[in-house]
Amino acid sequence: MIRLPSYEQVRSDPVLYAHANRVLHLETNPGNARALVQAHGEGTTARDVWINPPPIPLTTAEMDHVFDLPYARSPHPRYADENGSHDGATKIPAWEMIRFSVNIMRGCFGGCTFCSITEHEGRIIQSRSEESILKEVEAIRDSVSGFTSTISDLGGPTANMYRLGCKSPEIESACRKPSCVYPGICPNLGTNHDPLIKIYRRARALKGIKKILIGSGLRYDLAVQSPEYVKELVQHHVGG
Ligand code: SF4
Repeated sequence: MIRLPSYEQVRSDPVLYAHANRVLHLETNPGNARALVQAHGEGTTARDVWINPPPIPLTTAEMDHVFDLPYARSPHPRYADENGSHDGATKIPAWEMIRFSVNIMRGCFGGCTFCSITEHEGRIIQSRSEESILKEVEAIRDSVSGFTSTISDLGGPTANMYRLGCKSPEIESACRKPSCVYPGICPNLGTNHDPLIKIYRRARALKGIKKILIGSGLRYDLAVQSPEYVKELVQHHVGG
C-alpha cells in the first residue's frame, strides 16, 4: 500500500494536495493499483482511511445485465404534480437532459486532471453490446412520454471511446500512464471507430427514430483517426 500525506497536511499545503492527487491518478489501474492509506485526525481520535484499489471493469455481458434491469424511465412519482406529470411546475431540469439519452459505455482514458470520471468509472472502457443499446433506444421510443423521435445522445463520459482500449491486456494491466491520449495517442491504443459507426447507423434506421444526436463530449484527436466517423458525424449527427 501507499501512504498519502495526512488529511491535515493536504488541507494546509497545496503542494502536498497536488502530490496526493497525482498518486491517486497513478493508482487507478485495477491491474496494478495499490491500496492507499491516509491518516485523519490526531491523538485519541486518529484514524487511517483505507482506499481499496479500483474494481475489475465489468464485461459487456455484465454491463448489459445492469442496463437491462427494469428501470422506470421516469422520476420518482413523489416529485410529480397532481396529474402524475413532470412537465409543469414539477419539471426536473436534470431529468430533461437525460430523458431521451442513452449511456453506451463507462470510463474514460483521457486522464484530464480537472475531471473526476477516472475516480467514478475508471479509465478502462466498459462497453454495452450493440443489441442492448438498440433495445434501450426502442424502450425510450415506446415508453417515455413526450418522445419526439429524436434521441438526444448516444454517449458516455467521452462519446467516441466506445470499445476503444489498449491492444494488449498484458501491457494494459502493467501500465501506469494516467492517459492513453496525452501527450500523444499511445501506439498501443486501438482507435477503431467502426463499431460506433455501426450503432449510429442501426439506431437511425430503427422504426420511429428520426434523428440521433451526440450530446456527450467528443475527443477530436481520436475522431480524426477515423475519417469515416467524422464524415458520419458531419452528415447525420450534431457533435457535442
Ligand atoms: S499502454 Fe498505452 S494504450 Fe495501453 S493502457 Fe497504457 S497508455 Fe493506454
